[in-house]
Amino acid sequence: MPVLSLRETNGKALQSNLDFWIDMDTMILRISTQSMSAILSEHHSLKNLSTLRLDATARYFADIREEDGLREIFSFVREHALPYLVIGGWSNMIFAFDEFPGVIIRTNLKGWSIDTNKHLHVCAWELVTPVSIALERDHGVPIFDRWFGLPGTFGGGIAGNAGCFGLEMSRYFVSCRVYDVDHDNFSMLTASDMCFDYRTSLLKSHPELVAVSAEFDLSTDFDQDRYRRGVEFRQLKQPKGFTCGSFFKNPPGDYAGRLIEAAGLKGTRIGGAEISLLHGNFFLNVDNASWQDVLALWDLAKETVREKFGIELIPEVRIVRNAS
Ligand SMILES: Cc1cc2nc3c(=O)[nH]c(=O)nc-3n(C[C@H](O)[C@H](O)[C@H](O)COP(=O)(O)OP(=O)(O)OC[C@H]3O[C@@H](n4cnc5c(N)ncnc54)[C@H](O)[C@@H]3O)c2cc1C
Repeated sequence: MPVLSLRETNGKALQSNLDFWIDMDTMILRISTQSMSAILSEHHSLKNLSTLRLDATARYFADIREEDGLREIFSFVREHALPYLVIGGWSNMIFAFDEFPGVIIRTNLKGWSIDTNKHLHVCAWELVTPVSIALERDHGVPIFDRWFGLPGTFGGGIAGNAGCFGLEMSRYFVSCRVYDVDHDNFSMLTASDMCFDYRTSLLKSHPELVAVSAEFDLSTDFDQDRYRRGVEFRQLKQPKGFTCGSFFKNPPGDYAGRLIEAAGLKGTRIGGAEISLLHGNFFLNVDNASWQDVLALWDLAKETVREKFGIELIPEVRIVRNAS
């Protein structure tokens, strides 16, 4: 396979101790020739990666194949002082840039097991719903009442303390192994370290901590009634289409969706972005929306609710601007 050194082909190439080159068949910039533990692409399109399907690119996109690749990529990040963003299923973030100036990092690291005490040991980049289905089908561990239909990965779920119908990740969380980007080392965090709260955790406020794997205690009982209500909610209330779930956190004692609906905004459209007619807290990309359309709709909802009800809506989704 013909390859060219990036330094030879591009005068502006970054200087690095790492071995990287362009694969001329795929035009992919590759890193770490020996192990192929990570692949870097330049000006990588992000359109199909996020559940909202917004159009943008990343200066560098890293696809990690082995755990060593994580260290290699972060060594590259540190060496060039680049901004970075770690993604899971990208179902809870919107971006506000045409090109992210640093490295967006995704991994293909997978794997999970369940022990005799019904403790789940899972790689942070496993998707929650397929693992939940397999746990119930193959291991008799009913989990649907807890995370039924939750999109995204365990890592993203832990970072945002995701949950359905009052049962958040924190309720079952035992520990997680994290990589500390700043110090280039791994450590274990237990529930008491994690500062879990409504849709947040230590990882959300410390993006330099990357969850690599986690343990959950799933030995508690299955709640049939909660499961039934969950199915009903997803079927009747949750809009289908390109979205990233609830945009705003529910304010104490109320619901963001109810407030947006009461403000008369359901169905409002700016460019290709629309507030769902089914649920006021779901914004949809209905026709090639730009990130500017989505943020304009977001500002409109926030300001209208503030004017009409005096309530400040706080974002649940993470808005990623030019640097993390
Ligand atoms: C249709 C739909 C329904 C939804 N329903 C719900 C719901 O019922 N309840 C709910 O809570 N959410 C819901 N969401 C939102 C979202 O799916 C969850 O918050 C999910 O847990 C996010 O996981 P993710 O892997 O997609 O994270 P991403 O969106 O990729 O990332 C979210 C945050 O986590 C960080 N992160 C990701 N992986 C790691 C890691 N390994 N280590 C450290 N940080 C990491 C990111 O940097 C980012 O800050 C819904 C979304 C959609 C589209």
